[in-house]
Amino acid sequence: AKQAGKNRAQFYAPHMQADALARIQLETDLRTALEQEQFVLHYQPIVAATSGRVVGAEALIRWNHPRRGMVAPGEFIEVAEDCGLIVPIGEWALREAVRQSCAWREAGQSPLRIAVNVSGVQFREPGLPEIVRTLLPEGEGRAQLMLEITESVLMDGSEEAESRMREIRDYGIAYALDDFGTGFSSLSYLKRFPVDVVKIDRSFVRDCPDDHSDASLVEAIINMAHSLDLSVTAEGVESVEQRDFLRDLGCDFLQGYLIGKPLSPLEFAAFARANAPF
Ligand code: C2E
Ligand code: CA
Ligand code: CA
Ligand code: CA
Repeated sequence: AKQAGKNRAQFYAPHMQADALARIQLETDLRTALEQEQFVLHYQPIVAATSGRVVGAEALIRWNHPRRGMVAPGEFIEVAEDCGLIVPIGEWALREAVRQSCAWREAGQSPLRIAVNVSGVQFREPGLPEIVRTLLPEGEGRAQLMLEITESVLMDGSEEAESRMREIRDYGIAYALDDFGTGFSSLSYLKRFPVDVVKIDRSFVRDCPDDHSDASLVEAIINMAHSLDLSVTAEGVESVEQRDFLRDLGCDFLQGYLIGKPLSPLEFAAFARANAPF
């Protein structure tokens, strides 16, 4: 067995080395991407479940790579988190979302709430409240910004995380709890932290309404969130059956390919005009 273990180690060694090299290359490329502004945000519409009117969008980052084309976040966010580059990348995303949202307002678009994903690594940076404060425009054109955080941020359980959340919230920024149900947060977290919206993870929506246990889980999440005065957004809505099921349960907002895929800023503006709030 020892022999086999040794062989296996030898077998994997070259592979691991290649992996490490690929990672270093990716890190280098991500730095270049930041400097040369190769990132873009796409906007996935979020609509009110009852009216189908657009209420906002989730900003989703893409890497417009000079050779590889559009690279999905799944291919680089984790490495960016590991090497800390997620902090400047996330700051760029916040700034870009605010800039875009103000540009839409100035073009006459009715106010929309733009949700930006904030990594736990980024959230734990002490400088975040100050960054958020300085990038928010004054007065009229004030962007309606929402931060999407995951349960891991709350599960820190620290008073620091809580006070940071409240400080940022005082700037008029709301919070969505992303991927809800996949982590381990409990009701007490939802009560304690200033969360506004719960986003039901796509994995629970996928088999609704046919799968009875998923269907009752989704129903329970909606009722629980409402009893705590939170709104609910369902992610990954792909079918008319899912849409009707969620709407009938009182789910507030819907997001998913049925409603609209993540769109370029131009495409999203057209979507928002066609599905205007009033
Ligand atoms: P997420 O926050 O859960 O975002 C939703 C993901 O589900 C997006 O993938 C979206 O395109 C996809 N999606 C939306 N509707 C549907 C649907 O109906 N069916 C299916 N199959 N998929 C749907 P995307 O854009 O590839 O993003 C993946 C993840 O990358 C995001 O998951 C988020 O965790 C992360 N991410 C994206 N942008 C940022 C960012 O600016 N900062 C950070 N820290 N993370 C980001
Ligand atoms: Ca999200
Ligand atoms: Ca999500
Ligand atoms: Ca997810």
